[in-house]
Amino acid sequence: MIESRRSATEPTLEPHPATTTETTTTGTGVGGSASGGPALPSPGALAALRPLGWASARLHGDGLLGRWQERNARATLPHCLDQLEAGGALGNLRIAPGSGRRHVGMVFTDSDIYKTLEALAWHLAAEPADEAASDAFETLVDAVQQAQEPDGYLNSYVQHVRPGQRWADLEEGHELYCAGHLIQAAVAAARAGVGERLLPIARRFADLLVRCFGPDGRNAVCGHPEIETALVELYRETGHRPYLTLAQRFVDLRGRGLLGEHRFGAAYFQDHRPVREAAEFTGHAVRQVYLLAGAVDVAVETGDVELLAAAERLWGSAFRTKTYITGAHGSRHRDEAVGDPYELPPDRAYAETCAAIGSFQWNWRLLLATGKHRYAEEMERALYNAIAVSTAQDGAHFFYSNPLHLRTGHDGAEEDAPSRRLPWYTCACCPPNLARLLASLHCYTATTDETGVQVHLYAAGRIDDGAHSVEVETGYPWDGGIALTVSSVAGQLGQPWTLALRIPAWCRAYTVLVDGVELAAPAVDGYVRLTRDWAGERVELRLAMPPRVLAAHPRVDAVRGCVALARGPLVYSIEQHDLPDDAVLEDVALESVVPIQVGEHGADAAIPVTLTAAGRVRRFATERLYQPLDEALDEPLDETSGGASDETSRPFALTAIPYFLWGNRNPGPMRVWIPAAPRETPTRR
Ligand SMILES: [Zn+2]
Repeated sequence: MIESRRSATEPTLEPHPATTTETTTTGTGVGGSASGGPALPSPGALAALRPLGWASARLHGDGLLGRWQERNARATLPHCLDQLEAGGALGNLRIAPGSGRRHVGMVFTDSDIYKTLEALAWHLAAEPADEAASDAFETLVDAVQQAQEPDGYLNSYVQHVRPGQRWADLEEGHELYCAGHLIQAAVAAARAGVGERLLPIARRFADLLVRCFGPDGRNAVCGHPEIETALVELYRETGHRPYLTLAQRFVDLRGRGLLGEHRFGAAYFQDHRPVREAAEFTGHAVRQVYLLAGAVDVAVETGDVELLAAAERLWGSAFRTKTYITGAHGSRHRDEAVGDPYELPPDRAYAETCAAIGSFQWNWRLLLATGKHRYAEEMERALYNAIAVSTAQDGAHFFYSNPLHLRTGHDGAEEDAPSRRLPWYTCACCPPNLARLLASLHCYTATTDETGVQVHLYAAGRIDDGAHSVEVETGYPWDGGIALTVSSVAGQLGQPWTLALRIPAWCRAYTVLVDGVELAAPAVDGYVRLTRDWAGERVELRLAMPPRVLAAHPRVDAVRGCVALARGPLVYSIEQHDLPDDAVLEDVALESVVPIQVGEHGADAAIPVTLTAAGRVRRFATERLYQPLDEALDEPLDETSGGASDETSRPFALTAIPYFLWGNRNPGPMRVWIPAAPRETPTRR
């Protein structure tokens, strides 16, 4: 059972078991919100937009996002709980001193528990009657509580494997990283009104961090950023300014070589240049996006426009030259890192799920800070592609890296680049990270400001912040039609406000109707804005959603000569399963000039819309891996293009499925970037 649940109007400040004499801000202003969601800028922060909070948004189960959230609650979360036991993470927290039991797994297994706790908190906010989830939450908190040392320290690896060696390995030890996830779980529980024990546990640890690493403590940073954003959120929830000061310190101290040398270089953990001076999005992808999410949090709370500008500048480096078409980041397996500009090989994409989740969170913070639609665009791209692909349809198998091409003959038994989604990983950072994102997904769909409501992600659901009410019906992303019933909540009637609807960058044509009457509604800065004294009007937004054939920038050498298919926010892929039996995936080309057929859209969100294009199975005359160029030009690459027989090449109807769905049928190769068949008959010498 849940210990307590607050109403949305009660104050949220927990009594602080103060271990410092520093001033604690109380009351309104900074200091929490009983209905806040992830990332809740304080009232005085730099913020163009305000988040809705979990109580002000719902996803309906008949839409795709609502269905994913439901699957998360019914399959992914219980699976994570099972794996915390089976994999030993929970056992690590329960090791009794002197028991002789050994710590198992990675040094950061505690963070898997904290992320699962955060997921449970967001889930229980929406479903307080879920007794199994509530019991699981309390069981995990029991383990966390009894593992914490009297001064607040908590890290099962150091406590049992390296006793007496706290903070001895900041480069790889992940102690502050784990602390950050504990704090985020505690903030989520406080905002969700789930339990009362976790926030004091997190604060005891945070107070210890302030003593160890604050202005009177050691100059140091953690090898894996995460603590920065967590401390800002704890400040927002409690009003206790030393947490913000410490987060600011961690951001400012990074890039000054405090972590020492690393075998992959200091850029691996972004310690090569201070954040505000860095010119490139670089290093370990997850560390980079988590750091930048924390930097934005610090910037908006301290009014640091220079730091915010640095985060926006690095966003440019990331999204103009270092992002996969799926929204994923990271092309290097060796150090899980972002590569050089335009280094985006589809088959060797590392594209870790956590990097896409971190990117989503970083973009969310930039969206709140600036209101610029480009950040919502990237949230949507990552969500429907790089993030969605990582989870199997059963909700209990996951990719860790998310390649855009699985080659025929791929040797993928081990977990660095498996051929299929696996139930769990030795390094299990991704599945519970997915669980916490999906459990809070409704919080990211819309925002408010003094003018009204902005809808950024379209999903069947309801938005109601106490002043504005928007009921959303849509088959998005299968269908570009979005119907919104818009009302002012009682007491707000007679006060016009503005409904802003994002027009996705991929959309070239749209119409807007209010109660059946079409309006001229130009999009300004990416949004159509409708101002009314809303009283139940029905707004219809119809986004034209034809299939698109996309090419990459010519500098992306790895996909030169290839095209990708997309429709709406979804990237498509072709899978061996849909090819003729004797066709090798790598021999298939696409006639990109031929119209592409769009499959039937059913009423059920579970039924995907497929695309059917004109494909061609090519047969190559040569078996030589390399040959002189003049001989290569003589080779009949594609006889049919030249009018020759079907024996060397043949057309067929090529079915493409949404990329996020690949790997859910027979195991086999897949690719997003497809060689484009020549548009004209090649000139023969
Ligand atoms: Zn991960």
